[in-house]
Amino acid sequence: MSDNSLKETWFGRCIFLSWYCEIGTCKFCYRSTMKHKIMFAHNAKRSLASILADSILGKELGWKIEFLTGGYGIFEFKKIVEIAKLVSEIFGHKIWINLGVLEKEELEELKPYVEGVCASVETVEPGLHKYVCPDKPIEPYSKMLKLAKRLGFQTSMTIIIGLGEKKQDFDLLKEFIKEHEINQITFYALKPVRGTAYENAESPDVDYYAWWIRQTRNEFPHIKIVAGITPKKIDYVKAVLEAGANVITKFPAVTQFNSEKAKSIEEQARIAGRTFLGTLTKYPNIDMEYWKKRLKEMGLENNEIERVIEKLGISLKNMKKKQINSCLKDKH
Ligand code: SF4
Repeated sequence: MSDNSLKETWFGRCIFLSWYCEIGTCKFCYRSTMKHKIMFAHNAKRSLASILADSILGKELGWKIEFLTGGYGIFEFKKIVEIAKLVSEIFGHKIWINLGVLEKEELEELKPYVEGVCASVETVEPGLHKYVCPDKPIEPYSKMLKLAKRLGFQTSMTIIIGLGEKKQDFDLLKEFIKEHEINQITFYALKPVRGTAYENAESPDVDYYAWWIRQTRNEFPHIKIVAGITPKKIDYVKAVLEAGANVITKFPAVTQFNSEKAKSIEEQARIAGRTFLGTLTKYPNIDMEYWKKRLKEMGLENNEIERVIEKLGISLKNMKKKQINSCLKDKH
């Protein structure tokens, strides 16, 4: 796999369709908290304009789309297919999705725009999984991953480190990867969230988090490894890259654009011997006229195009403020 030369790294951006989850009972997840459920009603959807603006921004900054996620059971499936089509057109290639358990017909409908399907497995230790995700059993995901393979998709899974797994559970992970011929795995370090069963838990330390990545890299030289990095754990970047991760994800790259943390990610990548593709720090020069034309060619109505451009303008304005603040800071 050419991605796996480990000479380069980049930021992988998840694009959310909505913030609500209809399962909402996984014990570590902020979407299981009452506060989140009150803030985000079941029918709260992200607007198409916001999703497309986010995609254009990611494309212009050289980020790669990690996957399209959220929204399953909230948007009509037809709408999800339309969004996948538009987002793939913006990026110029097929994308990945992480939208829960999908049926054969649904996967087939998405096939023209989607190259890979991700299953949010979280942990492979059966007892722990039952405790952590009581309403999200592994079996349906397992079946979907096998079906997706048969249909010609690539497959991926997510794993959270720090839920209570042991190092010996790596054997279970190894088996799962082999059994499902997983092409890509995303690791996250547990982030204790107030209001969840894990609010008093500790995030895994850097050595333990990197251990899981290193073991996976050693066992599977060709798998793509994505490592989640939260703003509080920016100092993990060098270690996870040295352990064999290809990609950094989860960092709130728009709100933290050009921040000290964003600069640190790029710098740690350099120290780890990687070329950082794209940027978390350089303000993009976006040709709005070009995107208006592209969106028109993609079949959007004029008023929708205006909404996308407006959303994009708001994000750029916020990012520019950070760029200016950062320059002022550098001068003083
Ligand atoms: S982990 Fe996923 S399925 Fe579980 S509550 Fe959170 S968003 Fe929903």
